[in-house]
Amino acid sequence: MSKKKSDSIKDISTLGEFGLIDHLTKDFKIVQKSTLKSIGDDAAVIFEQDRQMVVTTDLLIEGVHFDLSYMPLKHLGYKAVVVNLSDVYAMNAEATQITVSIAISNRFPLEAVDELYEGVKTAAKIYNIDVVGGDTTSSTRGLIISVTAIGFAEKEELVYRDGAKENDLIVVTGDLGAAYLGLQVLEREKQVFQVNPNNQPDLEPYVYLVERQLKPEARKDVRELLKALEVMPTAMIDISDGLSSEAMHLCKNSKLGCNLYEDKIPLDPQVISTCEEFNLDSTTIALNGGEDYELLFTISTEDFPKIKGNPHLTVIGHMTHQKEGMHIITRANTKIPLKARGWNSFQETSE
Ligand code: ADP
Ligand code: MG
Repeated sequence: MSKKKSDSIKDISTLGEFGLIDHLTKDFKIVQKSTLKSIGDDAAVIFEQDRQMVVTTDLLIEGVHFDLSYMPLKHLGYKAVVVNLSDVYAMNAEATQITVSIAISNRFPLEAVDELYEGVKTAAKIYNIDVVGGDTTSSTRGLIISVTAIGFAEKEELVYRDGAKENDLIVVTGDLGAAYLGLQVLEREKQVFQVNPNNQPDLEPYVYLVERQLKPEARKDVRELLKALEVMPTAMIDISDGLSSEAMHLCKNSKLGCNLYEDKIPLDPQVISTCEEFNLDSTTIALNGGEDYELLFTISTEDFPKIKGNPHLTVIGHMTHQKEGMHIITRANTKIPLKARGWNSFQETSE
């Protein structure tokens, strides 16, 4: 059954770099027509005649972006893929290929790397993408994983951050704040566990929050939904750092201002109840929480009837003239300037 740790560590060194690469990549299946050459040569070959290519990459570092004491490796592999696909979907493109690069220290047994790749494989299957390459190397400390994602869209389909127009409506998919609260719950349970390892956490009231943190999904469906509704966003971004900073990106890139409405921000009931329990303001969490991987986009007011009442889409505000600035209008009808307090890896964490 499960091998002893020392045997497993030997497994990686006896496999060697090429053995490990073979072991990790042997079951990857190719599903995309545009993948002409996948793993096994010096480089992959990808070709599409009629569409433009988008490329995006993310780097995740143990201790900075994830904590393995509550992040199972399988989930980490899944999430590393999903956060990249989210950027492809935010261009309104179809995600088609990824490369996966890992650096591992000798503290990781083969089973750990297998777990990580289980997550990568699951995400590739669910999102219908090919893993076409990567790099495998050692690190002196900890785990590093970097994913590069490739996608395609017709030139006219691509949506940039700078296309919004004054009076356009601001729309968000899904709901906000849950992933950040999931992290708060996990951090709290970790501390409880450190004090008393016999104390089993009861995560039942927080299932949705924890799932949003550990197993986020990218909005692959939104591209298809918008196509079906015949709505073409004027600008779009994915919400990785919190609504506030992403809305500000759309404004700055489009040289506009905006008004968001507090009472329109979509929140899951678990977000509301957990905010009450933790004594947090749910609007602050939705604005600044991050890691929701929902899409934020603008549409022309003419398109409003097409999206009205759609359960996946919520209008939360509109774009204004740049001179008006970027604000949130509270329930009490006061106008508060938006602040980009999105998660920032260069910022010291001080509350
Ligand atoms: P090179 O020495 O040319 O960089 P490698 O020996 O590193 O080649 O990789 C051999 C093949 O395996 C390449 O196609 C590469 O893209 C792929 N590969 C290497 N590591 C990984 C990985 N962690 N995940 C997926 N593919 C990988
Ligand atoms: Mg290499």
